[in-house]
Amino acid sequence: MWTKLQQRLQARQMHDLMRGRLTLDSPQAAEIKVNGERLLNFSSNDYLGLANHPKMIEAVTDASKKYGVGSGASHLIIGHSHEHHVLEEELAEFLGTEKALLFSTGFMANLGVLTSLFDKNDLIIQDKLNHASLIDGGLACSAKMLRYAHNDMASLQRQLQQSADSKLMVTDGVFSMDGDLAPLTEMITLKDAYKAQLMVDDAHGFGVLGENARGSLEHFGLSQNSCDIYMATLGKALGGFGAFVAGSALLIESLLQFARSYIYTTAMPPAVAAANRMGLRLVQAENERREQLQKNIANFKALASEAGVPLMASDTPIQPVLLGRNQVAVTVAAALKAQHILAVAIRPPTVPANQARLRITLSAEHSQAQIEQLVVALKTALTNCSQEVLA
Ligand SMILES: *Cc1c(COP(=O)(O)O)cnc(C)c1O
Repeated sequence: MWTKLQQRLQARQMHDLMRGRLTLDSPQAAEIKVNGERLLNFSSNDYLGLANHPKMIEAVTDASKKYGVGSGASHLIIGHSHEHHVLEEELAEFLGTEKALLFSTGFMANLGVLTSLFDKNDLIIQDKLNHASLIDGGLACSAKMLRYAHNDMASLQRQLQQSADSKLMVTDGVFSMDGDLAPLTEMITLKDAYKAQLMVDDAHGFGVLGENARGSLEHFGLSQNSCDIYMATLGKALGGFGAFVAGSALLIESLLQFARSYIYTTAMPPAVAAANRMGLRLVQAENERREQLQKNIANFKALASEAGVPLMASDTPIQPVLLGRNQVAVTVAAALKAQHILAVAIRPPTVPANQARLRITLSAEHSQAQIEQLVVALKTALTNCSQEVLA
């Protein structure tokens, strides 16, 4: 076993695929401290700058004084506090679904949904670029899983022609490494035509997209209930931690009874639930944060295209710069870091082979000057790197 692991690690090293961690000495913010060094942060999912908002801190502090720290048990034993309960009600009310159910993480929510609701006579059809937790959930369940080419509706339609007791289409609302959206309007037409169901993982859409921040479905003017299973996380735009599934009372009762990643785990701390409630309030109350985020996205895209930085087709805060080879992505990320800018290189297997990239994420907290600084550094790094590669 140990010899094999050593060989796997060496192979990873050789292909520029070794991963490591940075140690953060500050809250998430536009400017962070990493190992004592100040860096401009373009790698966080804290899109609205809520992770360190004074009201979020106050919510955690107040709830900790009232409820302590640990939840002490799973939801179904005695870990389900008033804060959890009200958060579920508020999420369902905000979205206009019958019910919502909290999970400790988004990974566990996706695993729970896919492994508990389907059997071997069912079919799960997923976009190839779906988040790892959806893919793993599909692999771990007894239903048959098919995967279609990214956002390719013809390929999806072919797969829907297979017969099965039930057919679940599964997609990210906003793709986490590409920043583009799933064509939800077309998918709902297919859902009706093939009597299928639809699950949307809106980790990056919830709190960001749509007139009222309800996410990808609202962005397309679709009713929340046109999707059967809606999942989103609370640790990204909402600035908190955890995740939830929203939908019909039948869906939620089934998850509560059958989803093992819901049942056999300790509930999130009540103070975290309280912070999530505050996050949901702030998303609505401080709408100017979403406006600023949209301005920052437009501004970055305009400056980057002026500077000849190649962008992908994304209008969301996720703005990847596709670089191809792992080594190029690692070199460009290192050049940016030398300029005190953090934009982490994303490599396979998180993205397909030869599609290594910088995953730049924008936040409402970035200033115009910081975005300009990023684009200048990016342009220089890309020019130097292409000269090195050509040399
Ligand atoms: C982050 C993410 C998850 C996982 O959520 P966690 O709460 O971080 O476990 C699931 N799906 C997508 C698309 C994500 O980006």
